[in-house]
Amino acid sequence: MSYSFFIDTERCTACRACQVACKQWHNLPAEKTRNRGTFQNPPDLSFMTYKLVRMKEVVIDGQLRWLFLPEQCRHCIDPPCLQTADDEAAIYKDEKTGAVIFTANTKSLDADEIIESCPYNIPRKAADGTLAKCDMCNDRVTNGLLPACVQACPSGAMNFGEREAMLSLADQRLGQVRKKYSEAQLVDADDVSVIYLVTAPPMEYHENLMAAAGARDITRLAALRKMVRPFRQALRQLA
Ligand code: SF4
Ligand code: SF4
Ligand code: SF4
Repeated sequence: MSYSFFIDTERCTACRACQVACKQWHNLPAEKTRNRGTFQNPPDLSFMTYKLVRMKEVVIDGQLRWLFLPEQCRHCIDPPCLQTADDEAAIYKDEKTGAVIFTANTKSLDADEIIESCPYNIPRKAADGTLAKCDMCNDRVTNGLLPACVQACPSGAMNFGEREAMLSLADQRLGQVRKKYSEAQLVDADDVSVIYLVTAPPMEYHENLMAAAGARDITRLAALRKMVRPFRQALRQLA
C-alpha cells in the first residue's frame, strides 16, 4: 500500500493554513520578506519553506481568474532525484508510504545535479549544500496521523489517503469540475503521489506544475546522467 495526496485547487481559497502548518510541524523559521505587490509570500520554496501557496491573477477567455497552487514535492512514483543521487543514505523512498525522503547526507551529493534532475524544481539547498523539501510528514503518517498541511486545510482542497482512494476521488471531482471548467485536468497523475486537479492550463499556474517531458522521459534522463557521472567526476578532478 502507498499513499497519495489529492490537491483540489478548485477548492483552495489561498488561506495558507497548509503553509503555516508545514512550518510549525517541521519547526522551520519564518523568512525575511517584503511587499512585492502580490499576496504570494514568500516568493519561492526554500530550504526552510517546503510548502508554498503560489498565487497568480490571469485573464482567461476575457475573465479575471485567481489561480492558487499549494505547491510541494510530488513524491514521484519513480523519482528522478533518487535515481540521480544513487545513494540511499542521502535520498530514499519509504516503500510503505511512498514518501521520498532527503536526509542530512544530501550534503555529500552534487546538489545542483539533484536540483536539475527534478522535473518540478522542488529541492532547495542550504548554504552548506544540504538539500531539503517536503517529506510527506512521514513521521506523522507512519503513526496514523494526516500530514500537517492536510490536517490544517479547512476547505477540502488538501486530501490524503490510500492511492486508489485518492485516484478515485480525483476522477470523481474532475467529472464535477469539468461541467464548469472544460479545461480542467489531473496533472501527471500516473507518475506522482501528489495529484493536482487544475481548472486552467497548468502553465497558467506555474511553469513547473507539469513535468515538461513527462516523468518517464525525465527518469530516462536521470539514468543517462547516472551513466555519465563517473566521467564527469573524472573530468572535474582533471580540471
Ligand atoms: Fe524528487 Fe522532485 Fe519528484 Fe520530489 S518532485 S520526488 S524532489 S524528483
Ligand atoms: Fe509540509 Fe508535511 Fe505537507 Fe509536506 S506533507 S508540505 S512536509 S506539511
Ligand atoms: Fe488552499 Fe487548503 Fe492550503 Fe488554505 S489550507 S491555502 S484552502 S490548500
